[in-house]
Amino acid sequence: VPSPGNRLEAARARARVRFFPYAPRPQQRELTALLARAVRSEAHVVAEAGMGMGKTVCALAACLPATLDGARVLYLTRTHAQQQQVMKEFRRVREAAGLPLVGVALQGRRHLCLRAAEEPALAEADADEFSRMCRDRRRAAELRVLGLPAEPELGRVGACPYFERTLRAGTVEMEDWARDTAPTAEELAARAGAQGLCPDHVVRTMLQDAELVVAPYAYALHPGLRAALERSMRAELRGCVVVVDEAHNLPDAARELWSRELPVEGLRAALAEAEQLGDPACQGILATQFVRALRRAAGELVEECLLEDDGPVPDGELEARLLAQLGCASPRLGQALRGFADHGERLRELRRREGELPRSWLGHAAAFVLRWQEADEAWARLVLAEPPRLACALLDAGLAAQPLLRARATLHLSGTLAPLDAYRDAVGLPANTPLHRFPAQHGQRLALFSADVSTRHGDMLAEPAMLARLAARVSELLGLGRKTMVCFPSHELLGRMLPRLPPGLGVERAGVGQAELMALVARFRAGEVRALACVMGGRLAEGMDFPAGQVELVVLVGLPYPKPSFRTRALVAHFEARCGRGWEYGVEAPALRRAAQAAGRLLRGPRDRGVLVVLDHRAPRLQPLLPDLRRSEALATEAARFLASASATPAGS
Ligand code: SF4
Repeated sequence: VPSPGNRLEAARARARVRFFPYAPRPQQRELTALLARAVRSEAHVVAEAGMGMGKTVCALAACLPATLDGARVLYLTRTHAQQQQVMKEFRRVREAAGLPLVGVALQGRRHLCLRAAEEPALAEADADEFSRMCRDRRRAAELRVLGLPAEPELGRVGACPYFERTLRAGTVEMEDWARDTAPTAEELAARAGAQGLCPDHVVRTMLQDAELVVAPYAYALHPGLRAALERSMRAELRGCVVVVDEAHNLPDAARELWSRELPVEGLRAALAEAEQLGDPACQGILATQFVRALRRAAGELVEECLLEDDGPVPDGELEARLLAQLGCASPRLGQALRGFADHGERLRELRRREGELPRSWLGHAAAFVLRWQEADEAWARLVLAEPPRLACALLDAGLAAQPLLRARATLHLSGTLAPLDAYRDAVGLPANTPLHRFPAQHGQRLALFSADVSTRHGDMLAEPAMLARLAARVSELLGLGRKTMVCFPSHELLGRMLPRLPPGLGVERAGVGQAELMALVARFRAGEVRALACVMGGRLAEGMDFPAGQVELVVLVGLPYPKPSFRTRALVAHFEARCGRGWEYGVEAPALRRAAQAAGRLLRGPRDRGVLVVLDHRAPRLQPLLPDLRRSEALATEAARFLASASATPAGS
């Protein structure tokens, strides 16, 4: 903790430094001041800063002064594209400040690992498994470099050649270069990779004295990753100012990261493992007995409880079936589960020493049932289809996000966060957290909606011609020949409508790889593909920037309300019990934010112009987020007229 004298000196130094790299616009000055106040008073703040506002540079200019008195800045992003944007702005801020600040972009180890391309088990590993495997391979490399014999603990694990080279060559030169240039993770990986050095090691070496660390959400939400990051940074979260970028994604990311699933099919592998281990018994229950009982109970529950895509499992039902089949009482089952979890851990160790993927389905199954038993009202126990599985789904995102609140200050920013109180309550921020909305500073937009179409489930069932009518509207708009993004509420609807649309659309298919997606975007930007079809909430509609008029027309085909499911109902019930606003917080707010995010691809800067069309009679619900939205009976005509006049009169003229 800096002494009062040092703090005073730091405050003086701060006052002399100019962190904002451009002449700030009035709104930017206002946002930076708001964030800087939160940093100084060590508080939390939630702000919606509309498109084109430059919130990244405002956040950096507000946070980095705190590094002069010992704070660290942890900037959390959801996508790699956002991470790149932060590093680019950081370079400008650092240059304006004239200070040798160090910034590091951290990604999951697997993304940067050179060895994973040669060792499939590494590529397949989850975060915990990868961490164990990498640790062994690094230790084996250390022993080789030191000329020491292999440790029995390492078994047959071979040394990582990249780490060995890194140790022999050292990282001083790479670190110096990275300190000077503040590269993106991709730039650092390319340079380290070209020299055969482990990029992750370079990044982690730099973490200990970096003023700015840019990392994926998981590093703050996952307890293991968070602890590892704090160790590497040699700083605890309470010494950090945390920025949550595109914060509207945080609640879902937290729920996803903490939820656990058990595929019924995975229990086949658990059975094979139990046999491989010689069928050990815990509390008189054989491992094979336990797995068979669980497989049967899980299969029955999926069959009985599945409504459509998911279904609720009544309280105590899984345990009751297990106890009946195993003929034991609850405390004995609990002890047996802990015993099987230990056996699973032993198997992981065996596999680890063999240099194999340290995974145990037996251990996973036992740990899953223990988690299932412990789950309280913050969780939903359910069955899911395709593949059939049990799931313990986190409802209360605040449980995962709570440790964030230990930070010195937290700044939650997004282009579409309204209603802000819904976000505050979902994340578990204090009720007195300041909430601010800055209107979008976009160029000129014509925003229209059509009132005689909808993707509402009930409307589509009641009116069989609805799909054809929607397709006709989209086709008419595509016929304008403008650079267009057509955004659907789901891949399922996109797939159904595609055969009715004109050929030549670039389609964001479900599960498409990043490289393929980027190639599609490049073709669109180059004008080889005139229109993109994508999904609201997906990577194109949320994480991709299309500046300087790269998109002229955005069409939202309906609104992205979730399919009626038990998980959604459970989320509504959870928010209803907590704050009496179940539907609004659990369904309405996330759906409208996804739609507004997709609409936001249109105008990324004050000079952009374009047309937004919403094909849904529920569109007025979007008006708090898109106040200029109005009804039109002649979408294509109005859009064509506006775009023609826009071409003749550039924005800002
Ligand atoms: S040391 Fe680096 S290259 Fe080697 S396995 Fe670990 S992350 Fe991969």
